[in-house]
Amino acid sequence: MSLRAEIIAVGTELLLGNIANTNAKELSEGLSTLGINVYYHTVVGDNPRRLEQAVEIARGRADILITTGGLGPTYDDLTKETLAACFGKQLIYHEEVGRGIQAYFERRLAGVPMPENNLRQAYFPAGAEILQNDCGTAPGCVFVAEGKHVIMLPGPPRECRAMFGRHVVPYLKRLSDAEILSHTIHIFGKGESEIESRLKDLMQRLENPTLAPYAKLGEVTLRLTARADSTEAAEALMAPVLEQVQAELGDLIYGVDADSLEATVLRLLLDQGRTIATAESCTAGLLSARLTDMPGASAAFLGGVAAYANGVKSELLGVDPALIAAQGAVSDPVACAMAAGVRARLGADFGVGITGIAGPGGGTAEKPVGTVFVALSTTENTFVRSLALGTDRTRVRHMATNHALDMVRRVLTGLPVEEIA
Ligand code: ATP
Repeated sequence: MSLRAEIIAVGTELLLGNIANTNAKELSEGLSTLGINVYYHTVVGDNPRRLEQAVEIARGRADILITTGGLGPTYDDLTKETLAACFGKQLIYHEEVGRGIQAYFERRLAGVPMPENNLRQAYFPAGAEILQNDCGTAPGCVFVAEGKHVIMLPGPPRECRAMFGRHVVPYLKRLSDAEILSHTIHIFGKGESEIESRLKDLMQRLENPTLAPYAKLGEVTLRLTARADSTEAAEALMAPVLEQVQAELGDLIYGVDADSLEATVLRLLLDQGRTIATAESCTAGLLSARLTDMPGASAAFLGGVAAYANGVKSELLGVDPALIAAQGAVSDPVACAMAAGVRARLGADFGVGITGIAGPGGGTAEKPVGTVFVALSTTENTFVRSLALGTDRTRVRHMATNHALDMVRRVLTGLPVEEIA
């Protein structure tokens, strides 16, 4: 049976909405990759009584309790004290940790005397294994009591992430003698509900491996996870399911265990020695930024024009002002002219043109907010997609660039471009 974990994030600032609970998100992702079920996230303020109540509830329903935050030196950092008390453990001073904290201060803050209360960070529940903090002063710890694994991690996300990866993942892997393996299937072109309905029977039937979707902005991702005695056995369980998913979704899948849509496209461009240039109106550089997020982009990405004003579309991209006047700046001929213009002027193999109404203002009955035209000009053809991307400005802009990337991917892999299966 899979282990169950509960994440308890400690910090009043989380409850006040001052910060988002990103630690819980990241830890949950990490735990699910290990095949550990997370059924609950709890957030509790810097209040020992309420933390104690949260721990009492969590220990009744989880095998693994992971806390984040409240390990620091200040009076409101009470996580260790409270959890030690909940599990009937004393706090013990660890000399070597105390010396490490002193050395950290000398190294990082030479000349500044260390406040005495920093040594509170050297106390741990009896029998705890100490988890070194490579990015800060507060070490974490793990102990086992009454069959529960209690893991305490620091609040700052960088420290929490590093400690989880370096110490907690190996610890959790030792708890299970099974090998847990996952593959991530990346999909673009249909929404989560359609993907789910196409794969519903398969998802419901499967027990090992499991197949679960999650959506991120404008894309759908499926995680296939198997548990077996060996890596080979886990792969063997997943192979036929992966084939079934590929048969069902076809070229909607842009990659398995891929980095991102932009990384996939950049890799294809580099592999095929092709170049690209962009002309972006409503996305004003977002596509360029995504394409250049990866090192090595300069071999494929020649440049881009953020062509917001009509004058820029005409002067820098050669779009005929009469065409803009007749069709409107947001129109499919203008998107095509932008794509062809930037391709010709920058001497690229591919030119992308994006024009649309990102909102919230600027929509009309004929062209409401979310109307976007994305064109791709190649040496042989021009392709264009006419899109209705909804009313959320961030989503409209991001989706417009997703479509542009998808069109380039399709050309580069010999797939039909305008229509998505
Ligand atoms: P420190 O030594 O920095 O005091 P700590 O373990 O005591 O570490 P907290 O004081 O609880 O951690 O949190 C430090 C900072 O880390 C918070 O101000 C916040 O910016 C960030 N943080 C804490 N918990 C979370 C969380 N669950 N998700 C994201 N960020 C968090």
